[in-house]
Amino acid sequence: MSIASVIINKSARALDRFFDYLIPENLEGKIQIGTTVSVPFGKGNQITEAYVVGFPQSAQVENLKEIIDILDPVLLFDEKQFALIEFMKRRYFSTYLAALKTVVPYGLGLSAKRVSDKVLKGSTLAVSNAEAFDALEAARDKAPVQARIIELLMQNEFLANADIQMILGCTAASIKSLEKKGIIEPYDIEIFRNPVDYNHIEKTTPLSPTKAQQAAINRITETINAFKVFLLHGVTGSGKTEVFLQCIDTVLELGKTAIVLVPEISLTPQMIQRFAGRFGSRIAVLHSHLSMGERNDEYKRIRSGEARVVIGVRSAVFAPVENLGLIVMDEEHENSYKSQNAPAYHAREIAAVRAKQNNIPLVLASATPSVESYYKALSGKYELITLKKRAKEEANLPNVSVVDMRLELMDGNRSLFSRQLLEEIQVNLNEKHQTILFLNRRGFSTFISCRSCGYVVKCPRCNIAMTYHKNKDFLTCHYCGYTQRSLTTCPDCNSQYIKHFGTGTQKVEEELKTLFPEAKILRMDMDTVSAKNSHQQILEQFEKDKIDILIGTQMVTKGLDFENVTLVGVLAADMMLNLDDYRANEKTFDLITQVCGRAGRGVHAGRAIIQSYAPENSVLSLAKAQNYEAFYEEEIQLRKGLVYPPYCDLLAVMFSSYNDAAATNCAKRMAERIKKDLIGTVPIEILGPSPCSFYKINNKYRKRILIKCKLNDTIMNVLSSCVSEHYKTKESQFVNVSVETNPVHIL
Ligand code: ADP
Ligand code: ZN
Ligand code: ZN
Repeated sequence: MSIASVIINKSARALDRFFDYLIPENLEGKIQIGTTVSVPFGKGNQITEAYVVGFPQSAQVENLKEIIDILDPVLLFDEKQFALIEFMKRRYFSTYLAALKTVVPYGLGLSAKRVSDKVLKGSTLAVSNAEAFDALEAARDKAPVQARIIELLMQNEFLANADIQMILGCTAASIKSLEKKGIIEPYDIEIFRNPVDYNHIEKTTPLSPTKAQQAAINRITETINAFKVFLLHGVTGSGKTEVFLQCIDTVLELGKTAIVLVPEISLTPQMIQRFAGRFGSRIAVLHSHLSMGERNDEYKRIRSGEARVVIGVRSAVFAPVENLGLIVMDEEHENSYKSQNAPAYHAREIAAVRAKQNNIPLVLASATPSVESYYKALSGKYELITLKKRAKEEANLPNVSVVDMRLELMDGNRSLFSRQLLEEIQVNLNEKHQTILFLNRRGFSTFISCRSCGYVVKCPRCNIAMTYHKNKDFLTCHYCGYTQRSLTTCPDCNSQYIKHFGTGTQKVEEELKTLFPEAKILRMDMDTVSAKNSHQQILEQFEKDKIDILIGTQMVTKGLDFENVTLVGVLAADMMLNLDDYRANEKTFDLITQVCGRAGRGVHAGRAIIQSYAPENSVLSLAKAQNYEAFYEEEIQLRKGLVYPPYCDLLAVMFSSYNDAAATNCAKRMAERIKKDLIGTVPIEILGPSPCSFYKINNKYRKRILIKCKLNDTIMNVLSSCVSEHYKTKESQFVNVSVETNPVHIL
């Protein structure tokens, strides 16, 4: 009898290996890599789902149990996908199962059949805000899961039950019992079957390319049958998208397919329309706001070959297309390409593996490439293609000025806006041009604090200042979602002077309304963009209703292409420069470039005003001059001097536990073990263990070891065996250990 190796569908770290089973005669020849089977597992021989990954020749036959049956004749993954799973397991220190569930899109395989099609069952609050708070407080200790559900529904108008269960890892029973108590009620969420209405999209034809665009198209299409990574560095508005569109034309003519990755925030209706206009119903769109039904539909269209161009966010890099011919990654420097959940993969690395597997080009595009990618381009690992000018003849890069906010303060201007910015806004109002104002973060430091004693309202679980939401008058922790009533007296000193502080987008909106009562003002941030499609609605409204001023967070910086926007203001440019992160300069440069790129895309000249308390900072002046090359030269020297990527990889080994001492001890021991095994063998620097910046989150204490190294097999082996050995010990029941490769935020 022959033998099959399987991965068991159980997420325990201790079970993260292959298990061998005999193939019974009646199934001989019907089982392949990727087949879903049922097997007897564990002491009680519980019937368990498992996935076939190989057929070992020389395994021990004695004592092997037999596979029971085939559960799904459709293969869950093929050999290329399995190679990707193995790559992810090693590079991102994940389990096989977690990698499998990431590679094989959610909704395929067995679970696909369980998804109902017409409406999505959801829930919404059945009581007033005040009553919800009472229920929340009552449930907090006795029924914490129910409390979390109430919190979620206070933050969202409604949610699909499946999403609630997924977010909280809870069962339908918790939702049902809240329903019985009358606190929440069922809410049918209508499914928008098709994310794009292909009937109402105007067909477009290829534009006649500029010389620079033509050169780029030629280089990429010449290489269409070989693996190669291109870095397309083009200023905002240089027509990178047109380059993708025309390369994809070639790919489609060859009978092949393409994947186009865009960051979450730039997957705007405008972007989708440009692709739909060119390729019609041959496109499929994958983003995180699709309902399960919609996602399934798109997967079906991809699998059947109807959809040949997949446009999507990070996870679309796994799209199950056949006969892949090109992968494009727009705004390749964006953080949203890095997953924050295990396996914390980077879509750029996955895209490179898939491009290599299929012998095809990968095109990375950006106006402000990541320092890592530009380094590779200069060292010849990637091929650099540059677009220096805007594609439309009349469109010029905006005129950028940096305003010194210290002088404003000295002159007695305490408002959020410099005099220059106010004047320019007035000019735009007079001329009926549109303005975009940008603030880095939602509710940035809108925390509540006492002006008498300095008390700050913090999350009891995370020890982080809670954010004040004015509309609904409550406080939320942006790390764990803990929600509570706002306060009117200080719990520490009983003073009445407890107020909210800071410059959130809401505050900017209020101040603007007072200053320009006649202006039409719109706000776009995580609070106003929560219900489905509302991102699109806000943008449509901005265009159709000729809104004068759009205020927003990160969401307003990308991809928007409105001809009538001639003024862009950056309210607090320093916020980003001061982030506790080695990429702070890069992020600031990128952000300013992108924001300024929104202005002057039509016939009218654009202006951008950057407000700063440190205008002499060289990152700001280089961003003002739009000089990426000079910025890169400065930044790469810093990275080299301090040994940061691209001169090394960073590995964060995280320890978390309800017991502070347990986390510390475990971290100390592992640091010793890593030092013993690796120092002297490979160039490596081991920092810590030390407490994370956010030391306590959700009541768990967090410690970390930071490793600087060039990630190679030796290091991967040592670390992954450290982790798997940890999960064989009793300690693993109360200390969680994980490793993240090149984390975006080192928190
Ligand atoms: P990027 O992706 O580099 O920011 P876009 O592709 O969005 O640039 O192009 C910016 C603008 O220039 C768009 O309005 C686009 O329609 C226009 N455009 C691009 N290429 C051409 C061309 N060859 N001729 C005329 N207009 C063009
Ligand atoms: Zn006080
Ligand atoms: Zn919290």
